[in-house]
Amino acid sequence: MKDNKREILVELKNLNKHFKVGKNKVLKAVEDVNLNIYKGETLGLVGESGCGKTTCGRTVINLYKPTSGQVIYDGIDTKTLKSKEIRVFRKKVQMIFQDPYASLDPKMTIGDIIAEGIRVHFKGMSEKQIQERVTELLKTVGLNAEHSARFPRELSGGQRQRIGIARALAIEPDFIVCDEPISALDVSIQAQVVNLLIDLQKKKGLTYLFISHDLSMIKHISDRIGVMYLGSLVEISPSGSLYKKPLHPYTRALISAIPIPDPNVKSSDRIKLEGEIPSPIDAPEGCKFSTRCRYALDRCRKDRPSLVEVEPEHFVACHLFENGIKKGMDLL
Ligand code: SF4
Repeated sequence: MKDNKREILVELKNLNKHFKVGKNKVLKAVEDVNLNIYKGETLGLVGESGCGKTTCGRTVINLYKPTSGQVIYDGIDTKTLKSKEIRVFRKKVQMIFQDPYASLDPKMTIGDIIAEGIRVHFKGMSEKQIQERVTELLKTVGLNAEHSARFPRELSGGQRQRIGIARALAIEPDFIVCDEPISALDVSIQAQVVNLLIDLQKKKGLTYLFISHDLSMIKHISDRIGVMYLGSLVEISPSGSLYKKPLHPYTRALISAIPIPDPNVKSSDRIKLEGEIPSPIDAPEGCKFSTRCRYALDRCRKDRPSLVEVEPEHFVACHLFENGIKKGMDLL
């Protein structure tokens, strides 16, 4: 499907993912999320821990079944996939996990970890071809053939994350959910891994959903960024405009908290978020952010705002912007 000449790879329509908690409580991890991910782009998904971004990513690649709504991948609703088609789908989508150590089997060699998916999805390959492919993948992620015989415990955090990337690439996917892939790494290694992902995207035409709790981290890799709060998408925009002109009071607070290495920038410019994030089991009735928003009106506590496009491709869910971006900005 095409939208403004870009091809949509993933379409989320009114996506909900709820979990039963105890006898009669429901945790709404993802609530009524609508968004498109275009072929070849990186969509960043950001928000505090527990905001539903990982659940959203897992639901997109069918690790969780949606409670309701649709995940449409390349024009096909993933709910309608039969077992044979699920196998094909699993070859197209992959995930890179946050903790590279926990996601690698400590009893397997690096070579076997990378070869595992190749053996499942490329059944006709000889053992020699598989080993050649493993060596090629190790080189692609900046390691060498010698790493194949090692175990995960023998590698550094950065090297382990490279193995996570090589494992994801092994089955030649089109789409990768990168779930906080750099947050467990040293700052010095983070840029290397991000650059590797950007490089691979250019070479292989990959599409990424890049999940992070930190807006400063996803700035350099994302074409567009969606901001989640308590299971809902509250703002989505091309990343340039999100950093230059954040609209939603929650996004503004997150961006103001990014440290700026400039002695002329005062710490008073930082917007402090009041109060704790509410439980997703018992989210506020109207706007979910109303308990922490300094601009909250009576109406905000009753009516939940919908995501509306206030500038081309810039969507925000906040009552302040219902009469246009200018009026909204005057109220901030
Ligand atoms: Fe704040 Fe109201 Fe906007 Fe929610 S809708 S972010 S409470 S001003």
